[in-house]
Amino acid sequence: MIDLRSDTLTKPTESMIQAITHAELGDDGRTNENGKGEDPTVNKLENLAASITGHEDALFCNSGTMANIIALLIHCKRGDKVILDKYSHIFQSEKSLFDEQYFGLTANFYETNDSGLPLKESIKSNVSENDVKLIALENSIAYQGGTCISTQQMNSICKLAEKLKIPVHLDGARIFNVAGSFNLPVKHFTARADSVQICLSKALGAPVGSVLCGSKSFIKHARGIRKKLGGGMRQAGIIAAAGVIALTKGTKQMNIDNQNAYYLAEGIMNNKAINLNIETVQTNIIIFDVSPSGLSAKVFATQLAEEGLHVRPINESKIRIIVYREIDRAVIIEAIEIINKITNFN
Ligand SMILES: *Cc1c(COP(=O)(O)O)cnc(C)c1O
Repeated sequence: MIDLRSDTLTKPTESMIQAITHAELGDDGRTNENGKGEDPTVNKLENLAASITGHEDALFCNSGTMANIIALLIHCKRGDKVILDKYSHIFQSEKSLFDEQYFGLTANFYETNDSGLPLKESIKSNVSENDVKLIALENSIAYQGGTCISTQQMNSICKLAEKLKIPVHLDGARIFNVAGSFNLPVKHFTARADSVQICLSKALGAPVGSVLCGSKSFIKHARGIRKKLGGGMRQAGIIAAAGVIALTKGTKQMNIDNQNAYYLAEGIMNNKAINLNIETVQTNIIIFDVSPSGLSAKVFATQLAEEGLHVRPINESKIRIIVYREIDRAVIIEAIEIINKITNFN
């Protein structure tokens, strides 16, 4: 079975297992005089993430969801308006933030172009008309096929935010794929945001975890909220060790994954059973519409599964595929053949 449902399916590499085995450990739940935890491997990961993203400090979190929740709880209080993409992971999958029973924030949506990129004018008018307290961006844009916000667009939105005096949070779950796609350092996309979360457990390949990055005082605040949410971990160096390898050795994989995704997209784009806009394939994600096949996304996915390919329907008509380390070129070629077995003549 070829499984292209998500890059969360990556398994730890041999060097991650080695690093886990030899990790130096301490109690990350206890803090020293600098406010850092006592696990040296967690500190190493946090320092590394801060330097890669161009921020002062960082906090290891058990998931991207938790990192986003902590960040938004610092930037906003109950009832505050957050402007974000209606299709963002934060709004679609992390519902507790906008649930009255949980954190009770209010969502306000900016408009996007055909590739899901935020329209600055829409942010500008919404923020001034609706008393918005935070701009939350996502890069790459997962539900839009992994499209990328460029450094120019990022800088221009951050400049606007500074003028409007509101902070910017970046959900950079797959920012390493974005940086790979532009062949630029990650900090070019992250340093200007007030806070950013990066996922170690997607294509970077670590088994667990995300890192939230920001200023020293922001991270101090974040550490307190993480504890209240039950996100404090003890000898977390066990998992942070794999994160260190992800950040040092995992990034080389990004271009390979991006190129494999593009190769796959090119291989299926002429199939009359689907609609695929190749311009949206900028990183390791491919989304295509199966309406021309006359099948629902669910039925299409079931047919692919019968042929040995696992994919994810994301709505009635669209299917999402994500490429990652274990999916090499030979597997990609097999996946193309399986998808092209389904035509609009059945
Ligand atoms: C996966 C993901 C998250 C959340 O990460 P988890 O570790 O699964 O909680 C947040 N944002 C985006 C865009 C993601 O793809």
